[in-house]
Amino acid sequence: MPVLSIMRTLSLLLLALVLSACERPPAANAASPNSAPDERSPMSTATVHVRVINKDGKLSEPIDVPKLVLSDAEWQKRLTKEQYRIGRAKGTEPAFCGGLLNNHEEGVYACVGCNLPLFSSDSKFNSGTGWPSFFQPISKENVHEEVDRAYGMVRTEIICNRCDMHLGHVFDDGPRPTGLRYCLNSEVMKFIPNAKLATIGEDVTALAAAAKATTRPTTKPASASGNRAEAVFAGGCFWCVEAVFEELDGVYEAVSGYAGGSKETANYEAVCTGATGHAEAVKIIYDPSKISYEKLLEVHFNTHDPTTLNRQGNDTGPQYRSAIFYASDKERELAQAFIDDLNASKHFPRPIVTTLEPLKAFYPAEAYHQNYACQNPRQPYISHIALPKVEKVRAKYKDLVKPQSPIPAQ
Ligand SMILES: [Zn+2]
Repeated sequence: MPVLSIMRTLSLLLLALVLSACERPPAANAASPNSAPDERSPMSTATVHVRVINKDGKLSEPIDVPKLVLSDAEWQKRLTKEQYRIGRAKGTEPAFCGGLLNNHEEGVYACVGCNLPLFSSDSKFNSGTGWPSFFQPISKENVHEEVDRAYGMVRTEIICNRCDMHLGHVFDDGPRPTGLRYCLNSEVMKFIPNAKLATIGEDVTALAAAAKATTRPTTKPASASGNRAEAVFAGGCFWCVEAVFEELDGVYEAVSGYAGGSKETANYEAVCTGATGHAEAVKIIYDPSKISYEKLLEVHFNTHDPTTLNRQGNDTGPQYRSAIFYASDKERELAQAFIDDLNASKHFPRPIVTTLEPLKAFYPAEAYHQNYACQNPRQPYISHIALPKVEKVRAKYKDLVKPQSPIPAQ
């Protein structure tokens, strides 16, 4: 009996030690001022090399995607209080309390901030510590480690590679084959069963294009060269404009972004203030042998209201203005002629207020704005505002649209 009780005491002690290694005093959870996400560069021009879940619900090959950088305020808006406390302010949830601790379903644990797949149920094990534990990440590309010297301990922190979410810590007392124990907070992960992985599937081609555009902001957009040309239009919320142009055959890619302001303010939060000069804009990368710039103009003017100044529907402010950002004299002339015709024909009951502005640069928006309608067809804004526009295009321009809409059927 004494031996048993000593062993029990020892194992309890061990458990307490392990617990303290994973847990932090709640009072000290606030981020130190110099690590506040606010103070980072507002517009990420960085890309990261990660594996995402593709449209088929499979883990992709490693690809470059834009890094997700949001301000502190934006994170607070997007996350629950507890997710924010843990994921952004490096907190820890109480042991044995996390919702995913006793989950034994087969599937993937993804980042709550950016949907990046982080861990697979294949490597989950019961560590007895009170936190979901894994012996390896789903791929070495998707998490990175940093030395954490807080609270008089030296630990290794694990961080989401795409959005820098604090996930937990890794210790070297795990089981085979790695001998590692990734100690996670349930709160910063979402579990997706294998059968439903396609629901967080991302368009790998679009991500790669956004990453390319991110690393090389377009300062001198190509006019038509070969079978590739670009046009930049604004007409209210870029989710809608992007969705419309993605429908057109001959459009390789429509990228949501910002035009009209400076690089420093080319981020969603700043643009939302209406004070940056930026408009929410879409860069349309197209094949001019299949669809002309004039046709793009026609579709644009038929899918937004070019007669309401600094406003589309309920979205008001100069960031929602109707604008054509021209990259050449030819584009400017074509757009001006198009507007003159519309005014002359009284196609609209009021005069056109669309501005013609020289395109100085186009800055792609944050990754979560890309392909938004496609990824979130049931989101009320999309289903009420974007999808009717898409339907209008499909009805009115039957000979111009892709055989199948990129937006999944409802
Ligand atoms: Zn993330």
